[in-house]
Amino acid sequence: MAKLKLGMYWAATCGGCDVSVLDTHERLLKIVEAADIYFWPIAMDFKYKDVEAMEDGFLDVCLFNGAIRNSENEHLAKLLRKKSKVMVAYGACAAFGGIPALANFTTREKILEKAYKTTVSTDNPQGVYPQPSTKMPEGEITIPEFYNHVYKLSDIVPVEYTIPGCPPPADLLMTAVEAIVTGKLPPAGSTIAGEKTLCDECPLEKSEKPVINDIKRPFQVIPDGKKCLLEQGLICMGPATRSGCGAACIKVNMPCRGCFGPAKDIKDQGAKMLSALASIVKFDDEQKADQIINSMVDATGTLYRFGGANAILSPRRTEGEKP
Ligand code: SF4
Ligand code: SF4
Repeated sequence: MAKLKLGMYWAATCGGCDVSVLDTHERLLKIVEAADIYFWPIAMDFKYKDVEAMEDGFLDVCLFNGAIRNSENEHLAKLLRKKSKVMVAYGACAAFGGIPALANFTTREKILEKAYKTTVSTDNPQGVYPQPSTKMPEGEITIPEFYNHVYKLSDIVPVEYTIPGCPPPADLLMTAVEAIVTGKLPPAGSTIAGEKTLCDECPLEKSEKPVINDIKRPFQVIPDGKKCLLEQGLICMGPATRSGCGAACIKVNMPCRGCFGPAKDIKDQGAKMLSALASIVKFDDEQKADQIINSMVDATGTLYRFGGANAILSPRRTEGEKP
């Protein structure tokens, strides 16, 4: 059987998704047995012109990780889409915007101001910002344009499959590889993970009618390792998050941060979590309500830690900006 032609690319990302391929350990040999890698900039010195020279649809599969936050990311997303039969949003940033999309809760101007003017280590009295194009005596220098909004991959190009996680666990990657090799892929549009919420696969004890009257941060408490963490006042995103990671964080006493994105049929992970919280928080007076709300540090960032690309509750949206 002919080997698959595989591409892997990183856009706005930390590189953890690329490293996650190595988490497969000796199973990496299975991947190499089934596929030849034709493009993987983090691992080998490929050039963009190598991709441009490929025929359209040349790659069988492209695992695209990272969000789209500048013009280079967008260009590569469109180019690789053209060159790939199957496009996979690999990891939370490609799937939902991920950590880079936390920038959607502020603006491009404020980010540039912080990075190039107001940090204590910055000395830039003329307020010079990087420009997409700069004329120099030697010629024109160009760098990618920094966008005001961070997009998920499917906002830019059609995507066949999503493998969620920050980064995706090795088992999920192997499930996907197995499905590709055997031709037993789920219908296009599928997410390769569980369908229920993380609470459904969580081994901790849950009450019938949970009530909390305080919100705590992980460093403030040593949780009871047998009881639901949310019921102990820790913001655990389990009620709004897709299953499939095997409750990896919960098993080490850390609340879920939501890296698998919204569970099937949940439209907006942050709004769903807010609704779950509202149904269990108990307060007797306004003062207590304020205290609970204020104890949730960076509420938007917590509810949308990985899902900022299309957050319904974004402050910029409430200021009238279109997504
Ligand atoms: S909220 Fe978190 S700790 Fe509680 S059952 Fe759900 S996943 Fe488990
Ligand atoms: S428990 Fe939550 S944050 Fe941790 S790996 Fe699973 S989905 Fe991601």
